[in-house]
Amino acid sequence: MGPSLTPVQSKHSNSQDVVVIGAGIGGLTAAALLAHRGYCVRVYDQAIAPGGCASTFQRRGFTFDVGATQVAGLEPGGIHYRIFRELEIEPPAATPIDQACAVYLPGETTPIRVWRDPQRWKAERQRQFPGSEPFWQLLNDLFRCSWAFQARDPVLPPRNLWDLLQLTQAVRPGTLLTLPHTFSTVGQVLRWYGLGHDQRLRTFLDLQLKLYSQVDAEETALLYAATALSVAQEPQGLFHLQGSMQALSDRLVAALQRDGGELKLRHTVERVFVEKGRAVAVRVRHQKTGETWIDRADHIIANVTAQNLVQLLADQAPQGYSRRVEKLPPASGAFVIYLGVDEAAIPANCPPHLQFLYDYDGPIGENNSLFVSVSHPGDGRAPAGKATVIASSFTNVNAWWHCADYRAMKERYTQEAIAKLSTFFHLTPTTILHQEAATPRTFAKYTGRDRGIVGGVGQRVSTFGPFGLATRTPIPHLWLVGDSTHPGEGTAGVSYSALTVVKQIEAT
Ligand SMILES: Cc1cc2nc3c(=O)[nH]c(=O)nc-3n(C[C@H](O)[C@H](O)[C@H](O)COP(=O)(O)OP(=O)(O)OC[C@H]3O[C@@H](n4cnc5c(N)ncnc54)[C@H](O)[C@@H]3O)c2cc1C
Repeated sequence: MGPSLTPVQSKHSNSQDVVVIGAGIGGLTAAALLAHRGYCVRVYDQAIAPGGCASTFQRRGFTFDVGATQVAGLEPGGIHYRIFRELEIEPPAATPIDQACAVYLPGETTPIRVWRDPQRWKAERQRQFPGSEPFWQLLNDLFRCSWAFQARDPVLPPRNLWDLLQLTQAVRPGTLLTLPHTFSTVGQVLRWYGLGHDQRLRTFLDLQLKLYSQVDAEETALLYAATALSVAQEPQGLFHLQGSMQALSDRLVAALQRDGGELKLRHTVERVFVEKGRAVAVRVRHQKTGETWIDRADHIIANVTAQNLVQLLADQAPQGYSRRVEKLPPASGAFVIYLGVDEAAIPANCPPHLQFLYDYDGPIGENNSLFVSVSHPGDGRAPAGKATVIASSFTNVNAWWHCADYRAMKERYTQEAIAKLSTFFHLTPTTILHQEAATPRTFAKYTGRDRGIVGGVGQRVSTFGPFGLATRTPIPHLWLVGDSTHPGEGTAGVSYSALTVVKQIEAT
C-alpha cells in the first residue's frame, strides 16, 4: 500500500516557523512530526535527494543503498513504527531479516550466524562460544531494562528541569538495575566472567560492536552494547526494506508535504545566526542559481554532525561547546564498494548480511574487515538474474584528504576489496556488471558531513547516554538531531533523537 496522501487535519494549529537543516532520517522525522503537529516547516538539503546516509542511487538498472542497508525499529512498538502511526501513514513494506548477520572469522569457513529467533541464537552462541552464557544473560537482562526505559522516551542527557523530569519519569525499578553498569565497558565485563582471553568471542564482539558503536569491545559502553547485540532478535529485529532504503525517507517526505511542510533540495545552509543569545535565522544558498537569502524561524533544527554545527555557528559557537566537540575522539569514515553483479557471482543460500575478518593482526577496521549486504531476488534492487553486493569497511578520514594521489588510493582500495570479496563471491570481469566506490571524500560531497565522517559519536562510556551530546544545544531554539546525539547511529537511533527534539520544542 502507498502512503496516504489525503491531507490530515493537524492536531494543533501553530503559527511557529521551523527550519530544518538536512533531510537525513533525523531531520525528516522531526520535520514530518512537527508539520503534523501544525508547525510551519521548511527543510533544506544540500543534496539532490533526501535520506543522507540512508539514501540510494541508481546505475544501469541497479539500485544501491548508499550507507544503511538494514533497519531496526519497524516492529510494533519500535520507533519507526510509532512514528509512522503518529503520522498516520503506512510504514514502507519490509521483511524481517533472518539471519541478521553471518560472521566469518579468519580461516573459518562456517560462519557464526546471528539468528532472529532468540532460542536459535542462544543455541548458536553456546555452540560457538562455550562457557560464555552468563555474559550473554547479563546482556539480555540489561537489554530488557534499557529497552523498556528507552521506549518511555527519556531525554538524555538532560540539560534543564523539563528534560530531567522526562528522564526521571521514564525510570522504573528495572532501570535502577542498569545503573551500576553505567561505567562498565564490554571488555571489563568479559574479564569479570573470565572470558578476557577468549579470542573468538572477543573478535566476534569487536566486529559486531564496531558496526554499531564505532569502537571495539574494550571501549564500548556495556549498556549500549546490551542493546546493539540484542536488537536483532525477536520481538525486535532488523528489517530489509522492499525497493530500497529510499522508501523510508520517501514516506517521511510524503507525510511532510501532505501536512504543508516544504523540502528544498540542492539548498545549502551556510550559517546559523544567533541574536540576543538565541538562534533566529539561517543563511541559505540555492546551489543552481547561487542566490542566497536569510530565512528566519522560531526554531532551527540541525540534522548535521556536531562538528558541522560548530562550523555553521562560526564565531557565534559557544566556546565550551566548540571545545567539547573538538575534543571528541576521532570519528571514522567508510570506504564502500558497490557492485552490480550477475547472479552467478552469488553463492547458493547466501545470507543477506555478512561480516568478514581476514586476519587477526592489528585492530579491526582499516583493511582487514568487510561488512557486506547482498540483495535478494525480487527485493527491487536488481533486475532479474542479477544482484547488488555492497561492502563497507572503516577508514581513517584524514588519510583520504592528505593523500598524494587520491585516484590511485581509491583504485587500490577497490582492487583490494574485490580481491577479498572474491574469496567468497565468484567475482570476475564477466560477473561484475557495474562497480564503483565511495570514500570519505564522496560522503563529504553527498551528505555534507564534516570530512566524510560517518556513524556519529563512538559509544564509549565517556560519550554515550548521560555523557553524550544533547539534542538541546547551549543556544536556545537551536536543536541538534541525528547520529551525533543519544541514542546514536542508525535510522532508529536518529529517529529517537528527532522525537526528543519535537517534544522539547512543544514544551518551550
Ligand atoms: C556505510 C554505512 C552503513 C550503514 N549501515 C547502517 C544500517 O545498516 N542500518 C542503520 O540503521 N544505519 C546504518 N548506518 C548509519 C545510518 O545511515 C546513519 O546513522 C543515519 O542514516 C544518519 O542519519 P542522520 O539523520 O543523522 O543524518 P545524515 O544521513 O548524515 O543526513 C544529513 C543530511 O543533511 C544534509 N546536510 C548536511 N549539511 C547540510 C547543510 N549545511 N545544508 C543543507 N543540508 C545539509 C545532507 O545532505 C544529508 O542529507 C550506516 C552508515 C554508513 C555510512
